Amino acid sequence: MKILRTKKAASATSAAWRRDGQSVALVPTMGYLHDGHLSLVRIAKKRADRVVVSVFVNPTQFGPNEDFERYPRDEKRDFALLRKAGVDAVFAPTPEEMYGREGATVSLSESALSTVMCGAQRPGHFAGVMQVCLKLFNIVRPDVAVFGEKDAQQLAVLRRMARDLDVPVKLVGAPLVREGDGLALSSRNTYLSPEERKRALALSSALATAENDWREGRCDDARRAVASIRRRIAKAADSVDYVVAVDKDTLEPVERLRPGVLIALAARFGKTRLIDNHILR
Ligand code: AMP
Repeated sequence: MKILRTKKAASATSAAWRRDGQSVALVPTMGYLHDGHLSLVRIAKKRADRVVVSVFVNPTQFGPNEDFERYPRDEKRDFALLRKAGVDAVFAPTPEEMYGREGATVSLSESALSTVMCGAQRPGHFAGVMQVCLKLFNIVRPDVAVFGEKDAQQLAVLRRMARDLDVPVKLVGAPLVREGDGLALSSRNTYLSPEERKRALALSSALATAENDWREGRCDDARRAVASIRRRIAKAADSVDYVVAVDKDTLEPVERLRPGVLIALAARFGKTRLIDNHILR
C-alpha cells in the first residue's frame, strides 16, 4: 500500500493507474477507522480496479467551538487496517499541504440542502465538506467515490454539488453499519462514557420502532412518527438537536412515510453529538 503525503504524489499515482486503463475509486475519511469505513472500502474494491482512501481531519468543516483539536486520530492503526483491507493507496496530507500556508480563499456557498438539519446547527460545515471533497476529486480524479449513508445529508449535498458543477465522478452510497446492539458506528463513539453509550441506544431503537410501525401499517403519518421518535429519544438524551422525515435526495419534509424517506436525527449525550438515520426502503 502506497502512503501518499502530497497532492502531487496522489495525483501522479492515480494518473499512472488511469493511463494503464485502470479505474480508480476514492473513499474519503477523517480516519480513526471502524467497520463502517471498511465497508466503504469493500464496496470501492468491487467498483474499481484501484482504491485510494484519504485520511484527513479537515479543519474547514469544523466550527470554532467544535472538536477539531480533540477529534480522535490513530494513523498507525488506520494504515494497518487499510493495508489489511487491500487498499492500494492512502492519501494523508497535512492541512498545510491541502490548503497552502494562507488557507483557501475560494469556498462553495451553502444551499437549501446544506442549511437544514445538521447544517442549521453547524453553520459552514457543509461548505467545508464540499470544499474538501471537490479538492479530493480534483487531486485523485476518481471514477467513483464512496460515501456512507450514515451521513445521509452529506451524501445528498455532495450529489447535488457534483450535479450542479458537472464534477465527473460517480457517487456511490453505502449502507449504514451498526454495532451488534444497534448503535451506529462512529469515530465519535469513543467520546461516550459507558453510561452515555447505553443511553445512546435509544436513537437506533426509536428509528427501528418507527420503521416497524410503518412497515406493519400502524403509522405512515410523518409528523406523528417524528413526534414519537422525539419523545423516545428525549427521555434518553441530554438534548435533541433535530428529528426529521424528509425526502432523501431533496431533504424536503414529507407528509407521508414511503420508500425513499430519510428519517434523520441528531442528539447530544454529555458533550458528544451523535447523528443517526434510517432510509425507508
Ligand atoms: P468520517 O471519517 O466520519 O468522515 O466518515 C468517512 C466516511 O465513512 C463517510 O462517507 C461516512 O458516511 C462513512 N461512515 C461513517 N460511519 C459509518 C457507518 N457507521 N456506516 C457506514 N458508513 C459510515
